[in-house]
Amino acid sequence: MWNYNRDPWEAYYQAVQESKDRIQQEKDRAFQRRLTEKRRIARLPNCPKCGAKCEYGIAQCESCSQDLVWAEYLVGLPGEEGKLQQQLALDEEKYHKRREKRRAIRRRFGERAFRLQKQQLIAFAVLFALFAIFFFMLWPKLKLYLPNISFD
Ligand SMILES: [Zn+2]
Repeated sequence: MWNYNRDPWEAYYQAVQESKDRIQQEKDRAFQRRLTEKRRIARLPNCPKCGAKCEYGIAQCESCSQDLVWAEYLVGLPGEEGKLQQQLALDEEKYHKRREKRRAIRRRFGERAFRLQKQQLIAFAVLFALFAIFFFMLWPKLKLYLPNISFD
């Protein structure tokens, strides 16, 4: 792979290009990381007092030092624990309903595809049977036009 008899200028230019590529790659990766982090932060819940983004599970808002209470992904002020739990239960119920709905839709589509397949199979079988019947009925007439190869 490495050729010691290479033109030193060529080797130099190639090394420069490789360095540039490497630097560009690092830049792209850093940009991607920043973007991912920005998206992650955008999804974090807001402090109920000042609206700043809060990392999950922290005891105090990093921006206004407000004490916080958590119910899974829901954040609230101390004393709102009951309300948060209620909201959490509602969310869960909604989630299960949606999942049931999606499942029902998938099931219906599956059944429809199965029915279609069955119908196609039946249609094919009927056509095949009709063809076979006609062929056997017409065989004596067709034989007239075919060379006689019977051995009897
Ligand atoms: Zn705050």
